[in-house]
Amino acid sequence: MKPPPFVYLAPDTVSEAVDALREHGTEGKVLAGGQSLVPMMNMRLARPEVLVDISHIADLAGVRSNGRIAIGAGTRQAAVLRDGDVGARFPLVHAALRHVGHAANRTRGTFGGSIAHADPAAELPAVVLALDAQLVVRGPSGERIVAADEFFVTHYTTTLEVDEVLVEVRLPEQRPSAWAFGEVARRHGDFALAGVALAAETDGDGTVTAARLALFGVADRPVRATAAEAALLGRRLGDESVADEAAALTPDGIEFASDIHVEEAYRREAAVALVRRAVMDAVNTMEG
Ligand code: FAD
Repeated sequence: MKPPPFVYLAPDTVSEAVDALREHGTEGKVLAGGQSLVPMMNMRLARPEVLVDISHIADLAGVRSNGRIAIGAGTRQAAVLRDGDVGARFPLVHAALRHVGHAANRTRGTFGGSIAHADPAAELPAVVLALDAQLVVRGPSGERIVAADEFFVTHYTTTLEVDEVLVEVRLPEQRPSAWAFGEVARRHGDFALAGVALAAETDGDGTVTAARLALFGVADRPVRATAAEAALLGRRLGDESVADEAAALTPDGIEFASDIHVEEAYRREAAVALVRRAVMDAVNTMEG
């Protein structure tokens, strides 16, 4: 299948891209790696009349790691996966990226595209939620910073305005001292039926001082299992009773979804098992 006709624009700067998006409003759409948007256009699930291709904008690509790590939204997923600084300081990002599609998709797909696309089953939105990352957005009225907690609204919907571009993802200055990632999918490279990203800070003797548990593939957007997070505070990762307690509290406050793939009960059970495993696994990643 081929996409319906569209006007193709290839601006060289973010401000040119913002101007084009502002001019075309809801008829315009950012094109990044095309790994989600083009299949949706081919299937007539999206029919933008104007595509604003941001892949020629040099400022959007690259990983900057002087101080805190900032990933340009247009950086290809494969380039982030090759970046040594990201891997050394945020192995959670690399662990998740290995589950995003296949090598071919990651060569084209961008880090920001996956986050802006906001597929509820995507790995990267959950990772930025678990890491409490900052999303830098630029539009006609300038730049604003959105916390990951405020960015995802529902299926494929974020707080991005139609004339805004996600330009950068800033990872936290304080990197987690323990992490875990897991997902259940029919085949490797498929979208997750359920998944978890855990980022925790621990003090010298391994007691948890802060924890963020982001679930994906279970609801209409990535969601934090806040009751399970609270159960980890002041406790030790790798302790079976702590893992059991956090796992049991995982479903609290979360509306699990049923769809053509699996029922909500499956997702709930998978999430509980994944959280338990994450709390046990994270102890193996603890530093110091
Ligand atoms: P595009 O497809 O170009 O755009 C996606 C959407 O985001 C569009 O609405 C676009 O307007 C918007 N957008 C993109 N960049 C920006 C920006 N900087 N600012 C504002 N809006 C923007 N993804 C997963 O997470 N997990 C998987 O397992 C997975 N498996 C896949 C398997 C296959 C076979 C394929 C083809 C894709 C798969 N994907 C998966 C999707 C892939 O990871 C995409 O790369 C990602 O979802 C979108 O990134 P992109 O750069 O290609 O964005």
